[in-house]
Amino acid sequence: MPLEEVDTPALIVELDPLERNIRRMATHFADRGLRLRPHAKTHKCAVIARRQMAVGAVGVCCQKVSEAEALVHAGVPDVLVSNEVVGARKIERLATLAREARVGVCVDDAENVTALSTAATRQGVEIEVLVEIDVGASRCGVQPGRPALALARRVAELPGLRFGGLQAYQGRAQHLRGYIERRDAIAKAIADARYTVDLLEENGIECRTVAGAGTGTFEFELESGVYNELQPGSYVFMDADYARNRKQDGDWFDDFEHSLFVYATVMSRPDPGKVIVDAGLKALATDSGMPTVADVEGANYHRVSDEHGIIDLSEAERSVDLGEKLRLVPGHCDPTVNLYDWLVVIRNGAVDALWPVVARGALT
Ligand SMILES: *Cc1c(COP(=O)(O)O)cnc(C)c1O
Repeated sequence: MPLEEVDTPALIVELDPLERNIRRMATHFADRGLRLRPHAKTHKCAVIARRQMAVGAVGVCCQKVSEAEALVHAGVPDVLVSNEVVGARKIERLATLAREARVGVCVDDAENVTALSTAATRQGVEIEVLVEIDVGASRCGVQPGRPALALARRVAELPGLRFGGLQAYQGRAQHLRGYIERRDAIAKAIADARYTVDLLEENGIECRTVAGAGTGTFEFELESGVYNELQPGSYVFMDADYARNRKQDGDWFDDFEHSLFVYATVMSRPDPGKVIVDAGLKALATDSGMPTVADVEGANYHRVSDEHGIIDLSEAERSVDLGEKLRLVPGHCDPTVNLYDWLVVIRNGAVDALWPVVARGALT
């Protein structure tokens, strides 16, 4: 089927730029001896996870047990839940999953560590545990240094758990617009991670893994000499918000290409200066800003409601017809993907495949 016949709203993935993005990220890791573990919360799709692993990724990250379950059941053999898992039912599911795949998790609390150990022992499995440290994002994680050492000791002494190292993700740094701001934020994260790794080593505890990094900062963690497992996610799709970051030379961040689009139809044209499309809040996430219009230079998608998007054409390079279909680059790829059951995969202007978003709606 040609792309133009795909009904809207639909979530489309252009295969050529997707493949280039996957390869480009992998080349950064090829001769460095560092591990790439892409974040799968971006795509929630086992086909993409397997393609990432085919070019060298050691596994993927998930944010939820339910995401991990969906991906493992779709054939992904190695998942890190890069997050805390709290609550008896979730912990039991995590331990059960560890019977089928290599499973890791992050912790920032001693009682939680005990609960993980109890469940892992009951299931007869070993779960890899990373102690999360707060390196400046002020979200989860214990403080670097002594608190991390105390928790690492706890992990190391309990059965059913294998102490893996540190999770040191600086999420807030990813979308700082300026290169220098991002570099400085990650310099602090690197210092926190190095200090903690050294303290643990002085106390006889080795960190096999020091994990973190996203699409906005991975170049700094790559060069840090401390981080050895990197978790970028958004690079596969490259959303409109990441395109608002700046590179070192001041230009827009364009190391990766847009490969994810919401396909929308012009459903109304109240006057020549404006059109309404059928992709609103129920078709795309706007928490990180409005989508951009890929197919019409100068068109400005500026207002959104449940089922409508309003596009101003006063500075557009050309007019737009009623019924015309347009590709929109979503502001934030992850929550946009979560709205769809299928990725419509496009090559050479036609549908090449449908890939299920297997971890879609995986809330628990
Ligand atoms: C979201 C996330 C990432 C990936 O970040 P991107 O900005 O999507 O590249 C990596 N690690 C953790 C822990 C995350 O939550």
